Amino acid sequence: MSRFYNIFYAGIVASLLSGVGCSQGIGSTEEHPPNIVIIFADDLGYGDLGVYGHPTIQTPRLDEMASEGMKFTQFYAAASVCTPSRAALLTGRLPVRSGMAGDRRVLFPDSELGIPADEVTIAEALKEQGYATAAIGKWHLGHRPEYLPTQNGFDTYFGIPYSNDMDRVATGTREQLFGNPEYQSFNVPLMRDNDIIERPADQRTITKRYTEEAVSFIRAHREEPFFVYLAHNLPHVPLFRSEAFEGVSKRGLYGDVITEIDWSVGQIMDALEENSLAENTLVFFTSDNGPWLAYDTHGGSAGLLRGGKGMTWEGGMREPAIAWWPGTIMPGLVTEAITTTMDLFPTAVEMAGIEPPSDRIIDGRSLVSLLKSNGTEAVHQSFFYYRRAELYAVRNGSWKAHFITEWAYSGENERTQHDPPLLFNLDEDPSEKYDVAADNPDTVAQLRDLFDTHKAEVEIRPSQLEARISDE
Ligand code: MG
Repeated sequence: MSRFYNIFYAGIVASLLSGVGCSQGIGSTEEHPPNIVIIFADDLGYGDLGVYGHPTIQTPRLDEMASEGMKFTQFYAAASVCTPSRAALLTGRLPVRSGMAGDRRVLFPDSELGIPADEVTIAEALKEQGYATAAIGKWHLGHRPEYLPTQNGFDTYFGIPYSNDMDRVATGTREQLFGNPEYQSFNVPLMRDNDIIERPADQRTITKRYTEEAVSFIRAHREEPFFVYLAHNLPHVPLFRSEAFEGVSKRGLYGDVITEIDWSVGQIMDALEENSLAENTLVFFTSDNGPWLAYDTHGGSAGLLRGGKGMTWEGGMREPAIAWWPGTIMPGLVTEAITTTMDLFPTAVEMAGIEPPSDRIIDGRSLVSLLKSNGTEAVHQSFFYYRRAELYAVRNGSWKAHFITEWAYSGENERTQHDPPLLFNLDEDPSEKYDVAADNPDTVAQLRDLFDTHKAEVEIRPSQLEARISDE
């Protein structure tokens, strides 16, 4: 019998014993609460994985992860660009609440500030329960010492602290810089904890080295609960892959990069199984925002969704997402539940058996019950789409209303206000092609009310993204 069916039958037996996942005990041992591994890609589109329908990018390990776990079809990043998206994942809060959304959109190497110290990250919350915590990869929540992962609940950090296209030292056309990139063109630092250990980071081996770091952390901490936040710098441009993945994909350089990330996911799953940790570990794979369409074939694809990175169209924020937790998640489930990266904070907190902070609003909701169910449970009824610190659109059930749209990177960048808003039924029209506002005045009124109420209630913290290091 294949491993898949072994796990399937184990899932059935566990469910029968527990009354389909109502038991506390599934997936955790007497000794310690479950481990959590979050794998976060950068700029990966909804249509870029085999299991999400890409015709020529092969992702056998992610496909396997989905066939053994739960695949999400309506999972959202909380922002369409890196910095606010990462802040939201780690805090469970809308980026506007933590000051990590603003006009400058993301942090840059000359940014003075970062994530405020009073924000509680998943790592800080889990420290209460004695979790060992590692941040590996892209941070992008402040690169100055007081904002690094080591100041935000992580025991260790290994990675490039911001985007891999920053600190550019070469000039040339887009094709010269990004078509077959040289890592020396981007003078980004590679850090271990608080120190720069390599500059420029040799990005050709970065995915491989991040993976090795994650695997060795898992092995070293197999006896205690751990949280690994593995945030790949790729497939954000410039695209790099190690030698073993050169020319392996029909999709070209971008496909090679995804193939290596897929290999990396497999290394993590294998390490967990080899150390008998798979059944006590949730692995969650997703991405920070949609594909960077301005980079043509060097950027990804949002599949059937409209738009990409930087936009509040679905393609900017709806992401591939796969949860793997053998023995707890019934294999092969697909959920249409409206869910978001912000749910990972309350999920982690519940898994660890602790209470979320009560002195602040947490926008996410725990996915534990969904993960233990048959996938039909509802999580969120509504979702709010921000660009910078401004609310652009709202979803309620099947319906989405755009009050403002902006097609980023088209060269036009026009910002358009809509009154009445554009209205789409995302269940019937996931590509947001057919505006049906005129036929549905009651739904428009309902969504306008939701939009206005949210805007009136949400407390926006001043943006931390604007301040620059003075060059005295
Ligand atoms: Mg990104």
